Amino acid sequence: MKLKTFKIGGVHPPELKTAPSDRIITAPLPMEASVLLRQHIGAEAKPIVKVGDQVSRGQKIAQAPGAISANVHAPISGKVKSIAPVATLQGRPTNAILIVATADDHDADEKARNAAPVPKDCNNLAPKDITDAITEAGIVGMGGATFPTAVKLTPPPGSKAEILIINGCECEPRLTCDAALMRCHPDEVMAGIDLLRRGAQVDRAVIGIEDNKPNAIAAMTAAAKRYPGISVQVLRTKYPQGGEKQLIQAITGREVASGALPISVGAIVQNVATAYATYQAIALSQPLIERVVTIDAIGNFLVAIGMKTSAISADIPQPTAETNPTVAAIDVVAGGPMMGQSVVNIDGPVTKGFSGLSFVNNPLQFEPAPCIRCAECVRACPMALEPYLISTYGRKGCPEEAKAIGALDCIECGSCNYSCPSARPILDYIRLAKMRIRALK
Ligand code: SF4
Ligand code: SF4
Repeated sequence: MKLKTFKIGGVHPPELKTAPSDRIITAPLPMEASVLLRQHIGAEAKPIVKVGDQVSRGQKIAQAPGAISANVHAPISGKVKSIAPVATLQGRPTNAILIVATADDHDADEKARNAAPVPKDCNNLAPKDITDAITEAGIVGMGGATFPTAVKLTPPPGSKAEILIINGCECEPRLTCDAALMRCHPDEVMAGIDLLRRGAQVDRAVIGIEDNKPNAIAAMTAAAKRYPGISVQVLRTKYPQGGEKQLIQAITGREVASGALPISVGAIVQNVATAYATYQAIALSQPLIERVVTIDAIGNFLVAIGMKTSAISADIPQPTAETNPTVAAIDVVAGGPMMGQSVVNIDGPVTKGFSGLSFVNNPLQFEPAPCIRCAECVRACPMALEPYLISTYGRKGCPEEAKAIGALDCIECGSCNYSCPSARPILDYIRLAKMRIRALK
């Protein structure tokens, strides 16, 4: 049988998914955590604690100032030591609340964390109870987009959602954290999907999983049997199938127009990790204070948000490619190799949208050659753009021309870069073009 996938463009890079997905290792809670106040799309959360306060694990420590923002909670118990900027994985200073635990705090937290969970009965919750609980728990899209989840579940007046699509594709090479969640916690993920479905007030939910994850497909298909209206759709493995527009087209055949949102075709898209976080928030009363991340070739870890990334595993190499490309052949990337960003500060804190680390060949080793007009980038583009031309406009500083040919539709998937035989940094210049277009406003 021919498997469904999206129609235009796409590539199939080597999957290299060597981090085992049949097991999630629980990393010990850290003795200190730097919790960023902005780890989501939207406004920075406002601290509601002060230096010197004692906080408990799971306590809200920063409040979203509006709808497009997210609450932030303490991932460990301890004392607030500072509220000040810290360097992210990319080295950007970002305001954070630093919590430091005592040995007693730490022992009590570990004991509570390891106790067998007792889920609440969620059967009688109204849609608004569900979306309010998701807002309160600070849940955002955990596939990387970090858009506040409850906002997505609540379409604007005049729009009606018909289908909830759950992204279980994990089409990025090397990452296996979503597959690990589906294999190790299928019932909890499915319960979370059911809560998201009820919160969005839709009858039907479909989980899209690529055919390179047979164990996840089997686990989720078995779990879905208990939920009428929820089904698994197996998709042909193709990158970037996890892009919202690509996934909607693959599953429903509907096309989201340029500049439009998924709700314009009646769809809402969420990620499997977001579904799991929703289950934890509502059934277990645990806000978003930890998540599962992949450490390339090493494993999948349940980690506290705010802990130092370098502390997840002793086997993580130090990134040196950015600072000295002639010495390092390996670049450490936050996320997958296609869409991830180079890490310059491996001590940067884990955030809600952090899916893991990939270790890849340093692209700075490859000298770009002139464009040979082969159009491979055009064939690869899932948004039917002309990447080489947008890139040229970006390089030459022509934002209006770049905008006119759809630069803002670029989803920054990197398929053009991957397919270019001249190793041109197409996406870097497209990002530049997009920045200059936004500056026009
Ligand atoms: S132009 Fe943008 S959407 Fe198209 S392949 Fe390149 S990065 Fe992806
Ligand atoms: S793939 Fe590279 S060489 Fe070919 S047209 Fe695009 S930019 Fe030029």
